[in-house]
Amino acid sequence: MVAEHEAKALLREAGVPVPRGVVVRGMDFGPVMDLREPLVLKAYGPGIVHKSEAGAVELGLRRADVPAAAARMLAEVVGAEGFLIEEQAAAGVELIVGLVHDPGFGPVLLAGLGGVWAETLRDTALGLCPISEEDARRMLGSLRGSPVLYGLRGRPGVDVDAVVKLLMTVGGAGGLWERLELGEFEINPVIATESGVVAVDARYLPA
Ligand code: ADP
Ligand code: MG
Repeated sequence: MVAEHEAKALLREAGVPVPRGVVVRGMDFGPVMDLREPLVLKAYGPGIVHKSEAGAVELGLRRADVPAAAARMLAEVVGAEGFLIEEQAAAGVELIVGLVHDPGFGPVLLAGLGGVWAETLRDTALGLCPISEEDARRMLGSLRGSPVLYGLRGRPGVDVDAVVKLLMTVGGAGGLWERLELGEFEINPVIATESGVVAVDARYLPA
């Protein structure tokens, strides 16, 4: 599996917003000074897949808190080799966007309500790559939870056009799916707000 920051570099190159962050191996946290608080600390290393379950994610940190939190993680998380420290994105609606390879259909784009709720809600839609913009809008509209995207009872929705653009960037013509070939790719979550999207976790498993 490719490290989270490398999967995010692929997204950044493709024009998808990702949090600003730094990778630290060892215990020199100087580069953290350039980041805007609050910060998120994540440990990486072989065998760390579901970071939250492994105790390898800590949110809401100030710069000064990072060294102690990292030392604690290094002691507690099995296989921790280094850290990704990044800016914490504002809260919003957490979505999952993934690419899977179906033996019959080939590359398929998955989109749905994500984050910690992804597995509980199982509210996802599929589209065959390359998807069109119309496909992307139809996928989002077909989610049971779509009202949280479009707004509900006076609650504002999210920037749906930015979500559509993200789906096209991953699964549309000339999208990431063409470059990743048979690998599996997952953004979970991408946080959508009224003003755009930020992909805060990404996983890439080359074929
Ligand atoms: P996991 O490997 O457990 O999926 P994540 O990187 O997705 O780890 O982090 C767990 C949760 O922490 C995410 O679902 C999200 O809610 C939150 N999170 C992670 N990174 C950020 C960030 N940069 N900004 C805001 N929230 C974040
Ligand atoms: Mg995640």
